[in-house]
Amino acid sequence: MKYTLKILFLAFTIALHSCRGTKSTSKEIVNNVNFEVNLLDRYNDTYKVTVTPPTLTEANSIYQFASTAPGTYQVMDIGRYVKAFKALDKNGKELETTQISTNQFQLTNPENISKIEYEISETWDTPVTENKIYLMCGTSIEKDHALINGQAVFGYFKEKQGNPITIKLDFPETWIVGTPLKKNSDSLYYAEDYDKIVDSPILLGNLTKASMNVQGTDVDIYTYSKTGLVTSSEVLESMKNMLLSASGFLHGLPVKHYTFLFHFEDSTNGAWEHSYSSEYIYKEDKWENLEQQVVEVAAHEFFHVVTPLNIHSEIVDQFNFITPVPSRHLWLYEGTTEWASHMMLFRSGLKSTDDYFKTLSRKIMINSKYFDSKVSLEDLSLTSYTKEGNKQYGNIYMRGALVAGLLDIKLLDLSNGKRGYIDVINDLAKEYGPNTPFDDATFFKTFVKKTYPEIEAFIDNYIVHANALPIKEYYNKIGVDYNPVTNTFSLNASPSAEQLKLRTKWMAPITL
Ligand SMILES: [Zn+2]
Repeated sequence: MKYTLKILFLAFTIALHSCRGTKSTSKEIVNNVNFEVNLLDRYNDTYKVTVTPPTLTEANSIYQFASTAPGTYQVMDIGRYVKAFKALDKNGKELETTQISTNQFQLTNPENISKIEYEISETWDTPVTENKIYLMCGTSIEKDHALINGQAVFGYFKEKQGNPITIKLDFPETWIVGTPLKKNSDSLYYAEDYDKIVDSPILLGNLTKASMNVQGTDVDIYTYSKTGLVTSSEVLESMKNMLLSASGFLHGLPVKHYTFLFHFEDSTNGAWEHSYSSEYIYKEDKWENLEQQVVEVAAHEFFHVVTPLNIHSEIVDQFNFITPVPSRHLWLYEGTTEWASHMMLFRSGLKSTDDYFKTLSRKIMINSKYFDSKVSLEDLSLTSYTKEGNKQYGNIYMRGALVAGLLDIKLLDLSNGKRGYIDVINDLAKEYGPNTPFDDATFFKTFVKKTYPEIEAFIDNYIVHANALPIKEYYNKIGVDYNPVTNTFSLNASPSAEQLKLRTKWMAPITL
């Protein structure tokens, strides 16, 4: 994820992240949970949802709404938005249900339930006293479009989080649907489980669509633009260059298909990544005015395909929608991703050296001015779901990215210019992949084993603890001068042979 942080009158773009479809067979239909969402009736800004479950037993006697969602690091408590929750038997007679906690509905005699009906309010326009959900992670229903993030519309029956899901959407004929979800042979959207639904946002309405193939990857772009200022075909070229840059950085694109969902209306809030898609919420403007910041954020969101998708701990792998459980590795999921997004644009020439240096300076300034310098990246990870911790969360895009940049220099230095951070990341992605999580508690040790003994002290100083960052000393190693008084970077005009060797690898150009 990457959200846009508004501090005083300055708005800084920061970014957010997270999942898994196919044809149904008759066997699966027995187990499928079927949802129907009536978007023809948008009265009261609520989604009218009908759930047709498979046969239920006592073990399934709770209908669960999400407390949070992967990659958001925020408490959502979706149960807050639920209205008129009803369970009905096959004769349409209402059965008893009780809301036993914010996100849980107890079902009496679940074996008699033929369907569940409820309304759920959009998160954008529904006032709440705390834990306001980021726009890109929430829902919006308007006259000419709607945004669905799965965890904010759908729930699951206890012990059926892993059941396949089908979705029927009823919407006006002229609307276009943008989603990474595929349809099954019955023309219903299909997902292999609840996690996949949460990982697959749906933007529908008065959209434009453009498609392309980039080095074997099918890319779809859907855009809602309030007054039509931005069209998908305009955005296409910028996304193509960003993806080519990512391909050079990662030695090929790691997904076979990818969907971009853009929403340009009245507010800017940032973006949320998924396994095969990402969605962006920005205030509508001409594309030329939005391009630079949106491309940088798109680079960030796309890089999440590497981490956490291909490199993550068991906490991300077996996501707990009931109780938020923090991972200690936001330095990797978000910090490294933020570093990588700027670095890949820099190395491919889509971002100039000067602009790269300005990005570093800005992160240093925001880190020191707006965040608590005593909170380490590990603390920040472990407290992101608390009120105090959430205030520090934005620093993962500042200090987290700066630390990843220093780690890159340290690795280049230790390997004599042979193996920088992206080389380590590419190796880790190959070794782990989407189905093999690492152990959250011991990954620092693993990372040291896969690199150099000296990395243990680096992790201890700058990730586990919040020691002052050795910016000047590290950048000097690669022939980049840092002036802490003016907070500016420049290339050393007469670097030593050693500095030049490391700098050449550090800047290693990617050919588009
Ligand atoms: Zn992110």
